[in-house]
Amino acid sequence: MIVEGSNLIIEKLPKIRTRTVRSWTPVRAPDIVGLARSRALRRCPGRELAPRSLPVSADRTCHWCHSTVSATAITHLRCFSAENTDVSQPRLSVAVVGAGPSGFYTSKYLTSAVLHRIEKANDRNDKRDEGDAPALAPFDWSGIDIDILERLPTPYGLVRYGVAPDHPEVKNVEHDFAAQFETSNNNPSSSLSFFGGVEVGKDVKLSALQSMYDVVVLAYGCQAADRRLNIPGEDLEGVLSAREFVAWYNGHPEFGHIGTIVKECLWGSSDICDVDDDQVSTAKVVVVGQGNVALDVARILAKGKRGLIETDTPSSVLEILKGGASHVSILGRRGHVQGAFTIKGDSHRTMLRAKELRELTKLNKEGHNAKLIIRRGELELGMNDSSVAELKGASGRPKTRIDILLRDSAVSETDNPKDEAPKTVCLRFLLSPTSIEAKDSDGGRVGGVVCERTRLEGGPFKQNSVSTGEIETLPADLVLTSIGYKGMPLEGMKGRDQFDHQQSVVNNLHGKVTGDNNLFASGWIKRGPSGIIGTNIMDAKDTVKSIMMFIEENGRVRDEKDGRRGLEKYLEAHETVPIRWENFQAIEVAETDPARLRNDAQPREKILQITEMESIAGILKQ
Ligand code: NAP
Repeated sequence: MIVEGSNLIIEKLPKIRTRTVRSWTPVRAPDIVGLARSRALRRCPGRELAPRSLPVSADRTCHWCHSTVSATAITHLRCFSAENTDVSQPRLSVAVVGAGPSGFYTSKYLTSAVLHRIEKANDRNDKRDEGDAPALAPFDWSGIDIDILERLPTPYGLVRYGVAPDHPEVKNVEHDFAAQFETSNNNPSSSLSFFGGVEVGKDVKLSALQSMYDVVVLAYGCQAADRRLNIPGEDLEGVLSAREFVAWYNGHPEFGHIGTIVKECLWGSSDICDVDDDQVSTAKVVVVGQGNVALDVARILAKGKRGLIETDTPSSVLEILKGGASHVSILGRRGHVQGAFTIKGDSHRTMLRAKELRELTKLNKEGHNAKLIIRRGELELGMNDSSVAELKGASGRPKTRIDILLRDSAVSETDNPKDEAPKTVCLRFLLSPTSIEAKDSDGGRVGGVVCERTRLEGGPFKQNSVSTGEIETLPADLVLTSIGYKGMPLEGMKGRDQFDHQQSVVNNLHGKVTGDNNLFASGWIKRGPSGIIGTNIMDAKDTVKSIMMFIEENGRVRDEKDGRRGLEKYLEAHETVPIRWENFQAIEVAETDPARLRNDAQPREKILQITEMESIAGILKQ
């Protein structure tokens, strides 16, 4: 707080513009205080030297006189600025449902868009001569407050519970998301808050949220359900979706029970304590689908405990994986040129997807004792004229690289690559499952996957798989269906008007949910379950554009909303105790406590029970 008459910022704030003096004029600190009190300042002095997007952790250089301004001086200016900001204008209140990548990116770009718009409006006022026509419509808000609501006590969604633990470089994006709290909350014109353990539709009604906030963004992803194969035997014991398996090996608190099923599939009735850490399970695993999730689960099963010991895979998961599975087959109903791990989008996606596949080819070289097997005959089967055409041209270049990579790793039917490593990962092509069989010895448990050989039919990029009538049955002790995630409507959504059950997405146009409402969507629930984490950046920017149009058009026409204060009151009245950001930080501290870690390289040992998280966070629930 600036003390009136203090010299603290005399030489630190060299010039400032007032309503009366239109040129930049040096002003002394005591004068700034006086001018601000008489509301003669064009804008808050704090904003001049304290750019909105930067935390006050370092000294900064004044962009007018190039003198250094200390972090302390900036902090004082911000306090001053906050106290003297014109409070007659409301702040935009936004609720974001879901604390995954799409929620965080939408918050980030919406905050910058609103702050930029406020800045632009102020600049226009500054430059305007008396009688000038406004260059820009006035803006109704003086700041933005965003509240991120999350069903789980922890943020980060698929980054925490979906990204494979042996891809820590991808998980690093969590640091950027966490930094948003510091950046936003260091600026008097913006704030970001976290409400974990609050389920929209259950703890707070969607309609209540819409009436409390100016804007509600749905960014809750597609983790609630799976696409189904719709073939006989899909519900046998030992058939899991990759979504469940991924959530389990990532320590998702609602998927601990999957461990018991995986244990039975890999080790039967053996007591897991009697199984040696390096022992390889002889169980056969069939993964249906050839997207990146399928490659992730196959790689995790092949690596086993030793290969994941330095990752954040929970210790309880490693105790079940042990030396990994000896036979993992990944089935594609079409050919290798059409595999979902090939290239469909921009070069960034291409690199990452090619990387996923390359990792499988390197398993043995990197000491995981697992060999990738690709049958040369199956590669040839898929190389019809349409597939050859798909490899041609600029768009086919990355696919050609993958074609070469697979051919280099391919073996003939007569080779015996199993001799080279105790574990094998087989990429199989042109095989479509028609039913899942039970074991002879146990009618309720999976024993095999019956597949039909397919051939491709259709023009380039439109090829479908068609049955040839030839049948092959793959023995299986564990089946993981990896054919895509499925979005679900939130409780309280307006039927077909707002949710497209066919596509499993919220009905929207560039993120604006159909109808007269203040609802928006971002991420997988907006566009469907596709793309890497970075894909959410452009997607969020698209939604932010729609939100900006909406608030420019609707502005103050709507009633003033209670925003965060309203939500806090609502939760209190409904006896819901949210996990706030500082509570989550306590969970993080506990998870990274060296006493919990199995080695120096392990980033964290996740807490697997919600009640334990709440207790660490100091939250007492009824
Ligand atoms: P995906 O990429 O959409 O792949 C789905 C796979 O399932 C395809 O191979 C598809 O084959 C197959 N499939 C669908 N229905 C089938 C059926 N009835 N029978 C047999 N096969 C069927 O989905 P995903 O692997 O779940 O990945 C979701 C998104 O997350 C993707 O965009 C992915 O790239 C991304 N992701 C990225 C990374 C990374 O970058 N590191 C990691 C994980 C996930 P068809 O093509 O023949 O339909």
